[in-house]
Amino acid sequence: MSFKCKIGFHSWDGCKCTTCGKIRDAEHDVSADCGKCSRCGTIFSEDRHDWSADCDKCAKCGKTRENQHSWLKDCEKCSKCGKVRSNMHRLRDGICQVCGHGTFTDERNGSIHKIIKIGDQVIMTENLSKKPHSGNFWAYDDQEGNSLKYGCLYDWEAAKTLAPAGWHLPTKADWETLHSFLGGDDKKVYEQLKAGGKSGFDNLFGGERYARGTFNSLGASAHYWSDTPEDEKQVWKFKVGAYTETAGLEKADPNYGFSVRLFRNK
Ligand SMILES: [Zn+2]
Ligand SMILES: [Zn+2]
Ligand SMILES: [Zn+2]
Ligand SMILES: [Zn+2]
Ligand SMILES: [Zn+2]
Repeated sequence: MSFKCKIGFHSWDGCKCTTCGKIRDAEHDVSADCGKCSRCGTIFSEDRHDWSADCDKCAKCGKTRENQHSWLKDCEKCSKCGKVRSNMHRLRDGICQVCGHGTFTDERNGSIHKIIKIGDQVIMTENLSKKPHSGNFWAYDDQEGNSLKYGCLYDWEAAKTLAPAGWHLPTKADWETLHSFLGGDDKKVYEQLKAGGKSGFDNLFGGERYARGTFNSLGASAHYWSDTPEDEKQVWKFKVGAYTETAGLEKADPNYGFSVRLFRNK
């Protein structure tokens, strides 16, 4: 060790002093491999790689590894990084026997819809955005971009015209069955219905349109029609709310604009 090193004047070459060999941790060169300094050879014990965008390839250094994706929840979409692959489901009657996901093709226009089996119910996992035969419908804030992501909002009359053969607008009893299958507790049910939640329902907070024409709570609440009226003035709908973190049935004015998810006939 030189005199200069002793009084604190090291001759730094990146992370290492060329005179005394002292290492300074902040200066390691990890551009080629997050786990090892390419200059001094220090190996880091903790996992410093970033696998969030792809479980098998580090977003920072490009290092690859194999078979780290998780396909248990969905054979075709990794639940950790979101990577997709195709032709991996083992379909029977449109539903994968391994993970419960599947697709339904609407013969009327060739559109393909994602579906999931929850308990013994088969449910679309996207909010509809199709034109109804009658009644009124809207994109949130009348911005078409919102309907691409969140589907359309329909009044009750329109909601009842959307189902293709073999499908139906859920009844109040259908929503009750789903709710009780998922534990029967508004908070527990919410946890499983939310996007990325265990059920695979992948709730989308499409917001609502009041009868007087204003829109509310995109990204914070979802309201799905049932086809069951309570009386002349009110219809049952199923609400999923982010603020309360609850999910359950409520009554609503049929002139409101809500989202639609269809259930498959049994
Ligand atoms: Zn030194
Ligand atoms: Zn180093
Ligand atoms: Zn890395
Ligand atoms: Zn992955
Ligand atoms: Zn599958």
